[in-house]
Amino acid sequence: MVDEHQIRTFVDTVRPQYEDMLAQMVEVPSISMDPSHARDMRRMADLAADCLRELGADSKIVETDGYPIVSGGWTVGAQHPTLTIYNHMDVQPAQEPEWRQDPFIFRNEDGIYHGRGATDDKGPALSALLAARFAVEQGMPINIRFLWELEEEIGSPHFAAGIKDRAAIPCPDSVLVSDTIWIAKGRPAMPYGLRGLLGARLTLRTGSKDAHSGLTGGAARNPLAELMEVAHACVDAKTGKVKIPGFYDDVIEPTKAEIKSFLKSGFLVNRFKAAYGFKSIRTQDPIEVMRRIWASPTFEVHGLTGGYYGPGVKTVVPSQGELKVSMRLVPNQVPERVFGLLKKHVIKLNPNVKVERDGVLQPFRGLFEGPYVEAVKQAVKEGFGKEPAFVREGGSIGAVVTMQREWKVPILFMGLSLPEHGYHAPNEYFDWGQASGGMRAFARYFSELAKMEKERM
Ligand SMILES: [Zn+2]
Repeated sequence: MVDEHQIRTFVDTVRPQYEDMLAQMVEVPSISMDPSHARDMRRMADLAADCLRELGADSKIVETDGYPIVSGGWTVGAQHPTLTIYNHMDVQPAQEPEWRQDPFIFRNEDGIYHGRGATDDKGPALSALLAARFAVEQGMPINIRFLWELEEEIGSPHFAAGIKDRAAIPCPDSVLVSDTIWIAKGRPAMPYGLRGLLGARLTLRTGSKDAHSGLTGGAARNPLAELMEVAHACVDAKTGKVKIPGFYDDVIEPTKAEIKSFLKSGFLVNRFKAAYGFKSIRTQDPIEVMRRIWASPTFEVHGLTGGYYGPGVKTVVPSQGELKVSMRLVPNQVPERVFGLLKKHVIKLNPNVKVERDGVLQPFRGLFEGPYVEAVKQAVKEGFGKEPAFVREGGSIGAVVTMQREWKVPILFMGLSLPEHGYHAPNEYFDWGQASGGMRAFARYFSELAKMEKERM
């Protein structure tokens, strides 16, 4: 077992190297969403591969039909288990007027690291990388690999095809994803479940052109009103309860232990309301809010188009309308099956409505107990003095679902970002407290896996 003192000494020693590498990475505007940054994406891949090599790891730029994937690490012995750590090297655009500095100039203000990508996800990636260097120096009998994607912020369109290259990206025995946010500072929280998504467009055409209600109203059908009736039949607008028959059949409710774990996350209803600017929400009970945003499925109406939406009232009878909806799905719900239920329900109600799927992400359920979860608990305690709360995320991470489908191995999370870090927001930063705690946590995680391996050997 590695002692705490050794880890702390190592972390202090590598601080200048950590800050130097982070500075270089933040100053490459790797905005995957913006095609005008294609050359920066290439520079980012080169720099990431160089960082791996600089620390003595092997590295390879794996080409895809989009931006590449950087793969690298240390293989100390084929007989030992392999851990792959997932991070991403692309960033969100940074055009918000609230930025107080150039988002792509790295500024180190006494251990506060300013710049786009500092917390999402370059800072956490480097914490894991430097901790791995420590594990290698200690001669731990585990192979630590890194998988750095460059298309995470655009929904990972080429990730599934990219990781099929088994020669460059070997199938690991377990995965650690470091790309998530705690609920509150000082309260480490690691997700073990993600909701999926099913989007749909419901269109209805009742004529070839818009008409005037003075001439046709009363006899003419109104597609917007009919689509609103469909929406009403799909969801109770007040409670949010989905009314599609069979929708909840496959849902597994969180256990008492899971709910207890949610409560340890430091979630506060008022902070949640303030963060999103809500005047009121459907419930004030924190357990109920957490259950609703992390562990329950939803039906959301995003938009209704058609008719007139300029100033004043124009007495038009629209000829067509489109209702844009989506459903967040929880583990064990199958998007394809849910789409079938939706379609059947809508057609029965209104056979003229055309129902089309628009976007699908599978839900993900990871481990809530077992040796890997214990290893995460020990690791986070080492890094941050407290065991993490195991929570779920209301959103989706496409790459996670892809890795689970391709590799079928345990996927755990070790996120280091805080809500105040400006994730996907202006004035993003990361800090040495989270970076160094993260390094200690990763180092301990590696040593826990090494311990498991030594017991097996
Ligand atoms: Zn991210």
